[in-house]
Amino acid sequence: MGVRPVKQPGLYFSHPACLEHDPRAYMPEHPDTPERLIAIEQALAREGWLGWERREAPPAPETQLQLVHSVRHVEQIRELSLAGGGAIDPDTFVGEPSYRAALHAAGSACEMTRALMAGEARLGFCGVRPSGHHAEPDRAMGFCLFNNIAIAAELAIRELGVRRVFILDWDVHHGNGTAEAFRQRSDVLFVSIHQAGIYPGTGSMSDVGSGAGEGYTINLPVPAGSEEDLWLSLIEHIVLPVAESFAPELVLISAGFDAHREDPLAGCRLEAGSFAEMARHVRGLAVSLGVPLGAVLEGGYQPAVLAECVRETLAALASAEPAQSAGPEPLLTSRAAAHVGHYWPL
Ligand SMILES: [Zn+2]
Repeated sequence: MGVRPVKQPGLYFSHPACLEHDPRAYMPEHPDTPERLIAIEQALAREGWLGWERREAPPAPETQLQLVHSVRHVEQIRELSLAGGGAIDPDTFVGEPSYRAALHAAGSACEMTRALMAGEARLGFCGVRPSGHHAEPDRAMGFCLFNNIAIAAELAIRELGVRRVFILDWDVHHGNGTAEAFRQRSDVLFVSIHQAGIYPGTGSMSDVGSGAGEGYTINLPVPAGSEEDLWLSLIEHIVLPVAESFAPELVLISAGFDAHREDPLAGCRLEAGSFAEMARHVRGLAVSLGVPLGAVLEGGYQPAVLAECVRETLAALASAEPAQSAGPEPLLTSRAAAHVGHYWPL
């Protein structure tokens, strides 16, 4: 009598090196602390990791970083780290352990993508830091050194035979680095929902990409104070139909949780359950397209709240419960539809 092994709902990637990066060595009040990851890991460990299989990720080789970043940028971060560290800008710091942490963060996103495309799982999550979505091809900024999700998307396209990647960035800040990496490309659809008027200041609705990439960058800025009705409306009535038309072979989420109402860095008003509902919507898309879904941690700066958001998101991704459908929120959703409708059927 054979016993079938219980299939894990998904793969969870991280590495202990991600805990070593600590900008508080330079700025005692810096919000990007190792406690963010520790809180996530403790919350998940209490519940048996929700059945997800944990894997330690190898460091990304520098050639993988160079799928997105210039040789000069990679050298600059490595050399600053080897020299003992220093500030890149008023928000972004490299310490002696930071380069290794950043290699494992990027390596997690790459290893998740490889495992997903090899069919080892349908879901993946990277609980890593430093985060990546502000890092531009030639510049570290906004706590980010290397752009983990952009490197993973490039790896999928250049080395794993994936033709189209959809990246949804639901961090409360605009994913400027990812946008720059793929600005002129039609094989990566990049959609960012973010609070207007905060860091980094980019991501207006009129920025739609350029050249061959025109229409493949979609920015959905929302006002301070936005609640889940608006975020979920944009997901259901703009993001999902566009992504379905694009027909990606891989879906990735830049999963920041700083749009939560208790996050200290921004002013949106989502709840942990709002992220779960967004996750259900995106999982529904991936299931209907028959493609894998991977998420990479970005922001989220209240550790206990962040941990709850990640737990709810992983549970929602792994459940069979469908997302709720709701009518469109009237104001911003119709304005966004008018913009996006120039390029995509809605
Ligand atoms: Zn953020």
